[in-house]
Amino acid sequence: MDCQHLDEYYELCILETLTGEACAIVREHLANRCPYCLARLREAARAVYLLCQPARTVRPDPKRKAQLLRRLQRK
Ligand SMILES: [Zn+2]
Repeated sequence: MDCQHLDEYYELCILETLTGEACAIVREHLANRCPYCLARLREAARAVYLLCQPARTVRPDPKRKAQLLRRLQRK
């Protein structure tokens, strides 16, 4: 089955911003358990999940920070 025309809809479908006819087409199509689209939907879900992760701030280990500050003060 040729479903490449649905490619742009998966992310929107997961974000639930897909409405109306396009949404109905995607849902109906997925109900047929098309392997290509299910795989693409999984990829889209992962991409959306990663995008929604809060950016993690990296905290320097306090000991290393102290060492670094000492080294900077010496100069
Ligand atoms: Zn499909």
